[in-house]
This record gives sequence, structure tokens and C-alpha cells, in this order.
Amino acid sequence: MVQELYCYLNGKMVKESQALLSPFDRGFLWGDGVYEITPCFDGRLYRLQDHLDRLYRSLRYIRIDPGIRQEEVEKLTLDLREKNLPYLAGRRVYRVGHWVTRGMDTPSMAARDAGPPTLFIFWRPVDTEAVGRSLAEGVKLAIVPTRRVPPSCLETRAKVTSKMNQILAELEADTTNSLSLMLDIHGNVAENSTANFFMVQRGVLWTPPAQNILEGITRRVVFELSSRLKMPFEEQPISLYDLAQSEEFFLTSSVACITPVREVNGIRPMSPVPGPITRRLMMAFAEETGFDLLKLGRSKKD
Ligand code: PLP
Repeated sequence: MVQELYCYLNGKMVKESQALLSPFDRGFLWGDGVYEITPCFDGRLYRLQDHLDRLYRSLRYIRIDPGIRQEEVEKLTLDLREKNLPYLAGRRVYRVGHWVTRGMDTPSMAARDAGPPTLFIFWRPVDTEAVGRSLAEGVKLAIVPTRRVPPSCLETRAKVTSKMNQILAELEADTTNSLSLMLDIHGNVAENSTANFFMVQRGVLWTPPAQNILEGITRRVVFELSSRLKMPFEEQPISLYDLAQSEEFFLTSSVACITPVREVNGIRPMSPVPGPITRRLMMAFAEETGFDLLKLGRSKKD
């Protein structure tokens, strides 16, 4: 049985069932907030600092002063981890969420009158069996009609809670039992609803440039690993023509890690899945995090 965990809400550490928030919070009413999801492997938070850096960049963009310093949020997160440690044993991977909203709405409904901001930190178990299966078998992607909102409308580098753009893409892909692949407004590949996209072309790793996507922390880790492994990589606009010439595809995110893609709109990569470059990166990533989700997927299948 999964134990109820502690979370942090507006100054208090409470059991999840005790965490109560008014429906007049602007996060609920307008999706007015930002968030982060940091993975926690066997009790170890991976790249928490990078996630909190991005959280504070997103906060500055949407003009919320959270009223708490980043170092204090880090300390609260580590304190919450200590409190939850006795209950974490049942599962090996957790998502650690940091949500900040503009707080309570007022009768004026003006953003400037709202507050104080809401801060919510929580631990949620990840279905490692499902993630392990995707890592072992690869996932299927469908190019969806909904385009990724351009940064001239809403900065894609900010991790905002208004997720309708990506939710529509997810639902569209669901109709063919696939995950989404969103294009930008120019028709080039952008990203999945919750992950970044990579492909391999003549042995070189390609990923779309940062301006039309969320700049993933895992995407940056892949750059670091590629440099370490002396694998060439390029940030490069990817057209549908390029997709058809691809040797390998994969997705990256904090929870899905490096997930091979076995098909995009019926196009199969030229190499077996996972291809040699994807496989090397998956192994390097497992070493980097000290946690091998692929092994977990395999041992459940055997
Ligand atoms: N792209 C989108 C739209 C996302 O929502 C996410 C993660 O939530 C990512 C990419 C991957 O980012 P990260 O590697 O930081 O988890």
C-alpha cells in the first residue's frame, strides 16, 4: 500500500489529505502560475538546483514575487524529503513538484491585486513499470494539428501552468494511441507535450533550437553527455523531410529520461530501436543519475 506523503503548502508541512486551497486561488481560476518537476531517484533529488533556477526565471517572466528566496525553497524541499524518507521506500522514483501561483483572486480580478502567492511542494510516485516499458520498447509519436504556441504569444522557455496547448496535443495523439509531436507555427518539429525531441542524421544528433520549445533540463544533460562521449550534436530546425531521413529518434524529460521513439507518423527510424547513439546516451544517463530505469523495465518483463 502506498503511504500518504507529506507536502508543503503555504508555510506548513501537512499530509496530502490535509492540504487545502481555496478555489479562488488564481492557479485554479486562470492557470496563473509556474511549476517545476524534479525527479527523485532512490531518495536522491536530481538537478534540483537547475530546476529551481528555471522556476525563478519563469517567476520573473510572469512577474510573481514568491516572497521567498530560492535557497529557502531548496531548504524546504530538502526538509520535506527528510520528512517523507520513511514513506518513500515503496517506490523508487518520484516526481517532486514545485508549484507557485499568484495566489488568491480579488473581486477586481486584476492580476496586480492578487496574492500573496501560493507555494506548493509535493512528492508523487512514478509508475516505473510503465516508464521502463517505454524505455525498452520505444514509444510511438503522432504529429498533431495543434501547433506549439510561439514565443511571441507566450514564452516557451517559461514553464507555466496554463498547459491547454499541450493538453490538446496530448488528446489528439491519444486518438491513435500515440504520444504527441507538436510542430511550431512554421511547420518545423517543436517538441512532445511533456518532453523534448531528438533525432540522429548521418551520425549527428539533431534537436530543435531553444526558441520554440521548453528548454529541458534533460535536454541540456544530453548535450553534456554528448560532449563527454565526443558525439557531435546540433541545434537545428527539423523539417518533415528531415524526419523521414532519420536513423534514430528519442524524447527527453525529467521523468521519461531518454525514451527511444519507434515511429513518428508511421515513419520508422533507419536503425533498430533503440539505435546505437540512443543506447549509448541511455547508458550514460543511467550512470549519471545512478539509476537504471531500463533495467527496471527489463526485469519486470522477464
Ligand atoms: N517540453 C515540455 C513541454 C515539458 O513540459 C517538459 C517537461 O515537463 C519538457 C520539455 C522536458 O523538460 P525537463 O527535461 O526539464 O523535464
